[in-house]
Amino acid sequence: MSKSFITGFPRIGEQRELKFALESFWAGKSDFSEVERVAKELKARHWKYQKDAHIDFISANDFSYYDLMLDNIITFGAIPPRFDGLSGTELYFSMARGNKTSVAMEMTKWFNTNYHYIVPELSKETKFSLNPTKILNEYKEAKAEGITPKINLIGPITFLALSKTTDGSCALCHLDALVEQYAKLLVEISKLDNEVVVQIDEPIFVTDKAEKLKDKIAPVYDKLCAEDNVKIIFMTYFEHANEAVKEIVKTKVWGVGLDFVHTSCQKDSLEILKNSDKILFAGLIDGRNVWVSDLDAKLELINKIKEYIPSERLNIGTSCSLLHVPYTLKYEEKLSIKEWLSFALEKLTEVNLLKKLANGEHFCEVGEGLLAKNRAAIASRKTSELVNDKAVQERVKNLSKFERDTPYEERIKVQKAKFNLPELPTTTIGSFPQTPELRQVRNAYKKSLISQEAYEKDIKKYIDECIAFQEECGLDVLVHGEPERNDMVEYFGEQLKGYAFSTNGWVQSYGSRCVKPPLLFGDVSRPKAMTVDWISYAQSKTSKIMKGMLTGPVTILNWSFVRDDKPRSEIAKELALCIYDEIDDLQNAGIKIIQVDEAAFKEGYPLRRENVSAYEKFAVDCFKLSVCSAGAQTQIHTHMCYSEFNDIIKTIEAMDADVISIETARSGNELLKIFKSVGYKQEVGPGVYDIHSPRVPSVEEIATQIHALLEVLPKSQLWINPDCGLKTRKWEEVKPSLKNMTAAVKIVRLS
Ligand code: GLN
Ligand code: ZN
Repeated sequence: MSKSFITGFPRIGEQRELKFALESFWAGKSDFSEVERVAKELKARHWKYQKDAHIDFISANDFSYYDLMLDNIITFGAIPPRFDGLSGTELYFSMARGNKTSVAMEMTKWFNTNYHYIVPELSKETKFSLNPTKILNEYKEAKAEGITPKINLIGPITFLALSKTTDGSCALCHLDALVEQYAKLLVEISKLDNEVVVQIDEPIFVTDKAEKLKDKIAPVYDKLCAEDNVKIIFMTYFEHANEAVKEIVKTKVWGVGLDFVHTSCQKDSLEILKNSDKILFAGLIDGRNVWVSDLDAKLELINKIKEYIPSERLNIGTSCSLLHVPYTLKYEEKLSIKEWLSFALEKLTEVNLLKKLANGEHFCEVGEGLLAKNRAAIASRKTSELVNDKAVQERVKNLSKFERDTPYEERIKVQKAKFNLPELPTTTIGSFPQTPELRQVRNAYKKSLISQEAYEKDIKKYIDECIAFQEECGLDVLVHGEPERNDMVEYFGEQLKGYAFSTNGWVQSYGSRCVKPPLLFGDVSRPKAMTVDWISYAQSKTSKIMKGMLTGPVTILNWSFVRDDKPRSEIAKELALCIYDEIDDLQNAGIKIIQVDEAAFKEGYPLRRENVSAYEKFAVDCFKLSVCSAGAQTQIHTHMCYSEFNDIIKTIEAMDADVISIETARSGNELLKIFKSVGYKQEVGPGVYDIHSPRVPSVEEIATQIHALLEVLPKSQLWINPDCGLKTRKWEEVKPSLKNMTAAVKIVRLS
């Protein structure tokens, strides 16, 4: 008989309780004991939810005050020396968020999700030690709640592979020393109970690094399997882990976890596991997306898996931690597509139903009801008019134009002649400071507390001020400042048919920060122009060129929860056509330059090299389609928040934008040399200063930076701009910075 498991549960709280408790503590408004109280309550509640759903393997140590990688750093004493002398919560939150004297530790994306973890910082000097208290206590807490949990740990190989070193030494050279501490931890864990299950997450083995790291598996896991009463699950998610599975079966681990959502056909791994004694933890319910699972289809998949693995060796659960989905639908009163959705809590029920189906168990009346509801949801989604829009489907099917009519070399000549911009034209990336007053105006309008007239008056006033300042600065290509937008994806999603928005669908992004991704559930179309009124208004207020500002289709896709009943490449085309129409409307309204932001273009890269070229083709095609309504005389810009272009420069070139602005300031100019060595056709605006810091750069500094850029790119190809939008900065920082930027350009133009 199969058992059920949850890889991990979200922790921020269904009403973001942990967020508010933390932020109140950080603001000095409450004691840490209040955060502890909230945390205890949340853990107990989350365990109870899982217990009530009859989940067999529930986790301890999936909770964290900030981040599990950070917790692991503390557990193994890998504290960077700049935090010496600190302890307890002061140490913990200083590492996470910095303090007066020390900068915070770096944060980066957890594989290809939008969750960010704290990057361990190691050096030759790093000495590991063991502080198991948090882990042991969480186990005991669960026991006190009547639950015997599995214990979740981040695996030692993944931990080191995701670490950076500050002295150029090799992080993985610490493996033996670290594994020694893990072994000690497992001794402590073995004392907790007659038998303890430990889930060790090693997702690094779903990436291309697997090939290089696989030889470490057998020696490490042989050492970690030393305690007879500790059963270890080697857990992976997000992709296949074929290389690792081959190695792990040689060890004494008890179970192996695989993702059957991302890679439904795990044939290679199943072949290997078939002849082993390992228990398969099959991740069948999607831990990264929000749609109701087709349980009958899942059952078919289970039956295929059973051709390799008998049910006694097959457990059924989520494809990864539920951290990546919102909590529950219970607060979503207004959501029209609610019946098709399944958040973390609802997924618990799905796991339980699927287990019962797989075991051929008898369903009680309630169970029958739930199963019928599931089938009805799947059926109605297939045929609903909300989802299926014939006109959209026809338009995509009959597409015949996929790229611009005129090649870049000709376009740029037409544009240069028409725009008459000076050498080294200056511009900004789009947004200007989002002031508290501005947020208040938008909120009040959203809640119908102020009239549309009053709202428009305030927004126009902001635009007027933005333009006046940019003219005063002497910038060449102006922007309207994006005052009407709360978020670069949500703003467009809200205006597109096929999109829905939850009221409480928060997902942790990092620390106390949460995001609420829009839900793309149906065929997407644009009922009417989305930005033309605002941009036209702005253009009417200046004789300079006003740049239109749109978010690109790849970014909209990568930052939404996207329907799983249609290929992403198709959905991307629908989104691209919405942008295509918007560009056409903008140029017809007299807008000469339009920027299509693709901040999340690089974020969407797959974890396995074998999938990269398919992604690149899809993303490039999608971008090209979205801008191909632009005539030769309309200049298309794009913006990306990256600097590392070395491996993708030709892909970026293939996007065929006339101008690209990128982030550079933080990473030095080394990376830019690629533009010279490999060669790059179109115009480029490498950010000349870092907008992520409140510091105002001096004229000299910026002038020096421009000279450095001129070493790698000719004057005729170079634009001058900051390295990202200015929405997070204050006016007091933005004003002098941009004035210095234009002053610096003047000096360079004369030299
Ligand atoms: N146009 C957007 C802005 O200026 C771009 C934001 C981004 O790249 N993240 O805010
Ligand atoms: Zn940016």
